[in-house]
Amino acid sequence: MGVYVHIPFCEQKCHYCDFHSVVVSDQDRLSVTGSYLVSLHKEARYWSSVWGGEALFALFVGGGTPTVLPAEELADLIAFLRTELPFVDDPEITIEANPHSLTYMGARLLRQAGVNRVSLGVQAFQDHLLRGIGRIHSAEQARESVQTLKKAGLTNINLDLMFGLPGQTSHEWADTLRQTVALGPSHISCYSLILEEGTPMEKWVREGLVHVPGDDQQAEMYALACKMLTKAGYEHYEISNFSEPGFSCRHNLLYWHNKPFIGLGTGATGYVQQCRYTNTTDIQEYLRTWGEGPPAFRWSEQVSRDQEMDETMMVGMRLLGGVDEAAFRARYQVSFRDLYSDAIEELMKRGLVQFSAGSLQVTQRGLFLENQVSLAFLR
Ligand code: SF4
Repeated sequence: MGVYVHIPFCEQKCHYCDFHSVVVSDQDRLSVTGSYLVSLHKEARYWSSVWGGEALFALFVGGGTPTVLPAEELADLIAFLRTELPFVDDPEITIEANPHSLTYMGARLLRQAGVNRVSLGVQAFQDHLLRGIGRIHSAEQARESVQTLKKAGLTNINLDLMFGLPGQTSHEWADTLRQTVALGPSHISCYSLILEEGTPMEKWVREGLVHVPGDDQQAEMYALACKMLTKAGYEHYEISNFSEPGFSCRHNLLYWHNKPFIGLGTGATGYVQQCRYTNTTDIQEYLRTWGEGPPAFRWSEQVSRDQEMDETMMVGMRLLGGVDEAAFRARYQVSFRDLYSDAIEELMKRGLVQFSAGSLQVTQRGLFLENQVSLAFLR
């Protein structure tokens, strides 16, 4: 079980981004972010009374760009959460950071507060590609950030990369992968650029002003990442994620195992006592709510046992280790072979899944068609 905290502030909006985040100026930083942190405290207190005593193994502070906030404030927040909620003594504590807003002193403070994992939004190592997607940092800043983190004693580092960027060639993608491996992070995430409706990038591509690599080229880029990263010694443990042995992300594994977690902050999603909820994305409403009344969910739903089983299969098939048959039976007292016999038979016929080591897993071919594999378990 774990906790996700959303910090919805960024220095500028990237062209492709549809995550919930707002741009804050230096002025706002003093007023809005201060009130936001107070509300986060109140929300954490609320969930602390609802959650019960089940141990929490991971804390993930994401965004937005958490490092937009002063490191002292983030450190105070982490200290507060660790006192208020039943964390184990040595939880995995991850913070997302942007190379542009990361300093040595900040990293030291975060480490002292218990942060032991940092996820850096690097995306690419070519400045023209970074500019093209509206990132605020440069390739050099990304390289320096990794050294800064290591110097501050934060050695468990994830680098987020993106492929399928406007104008990106396979050669540039290979170069990004090579430079990433050379920096020696313990974890690497590779995501393809998704053209989300309502973003400038989607509009520019739709209007023909910007060109992105086609599906075939993106599939080649993905295949290249799988090949280069596994050759470099990384374990490919989830569709988009690679880690050194023993360094898979404990927090994200909770999602892929469909386990309960508390979500704090605007737009955060949580799953507590069979209830899945998403908080309001309206910051003012969020501040008002935690000033006076009950939580302002944008959406919430009681999840039935059947729904949970479907979801467990759908997210579990993202893991290359697949869904463990015995663990599923122990959790739900039923075999997934019986529940999803038609779906499994069909997927096996298409060569997308296989049984191996007591688990149902995606095949190499299934990796490229993961959406279809997941959807097959939605009853
Ligand atoms: S830094 Fe991340 S959250 Fe902020 S605008 Fe860019 S992609 Fe979105």
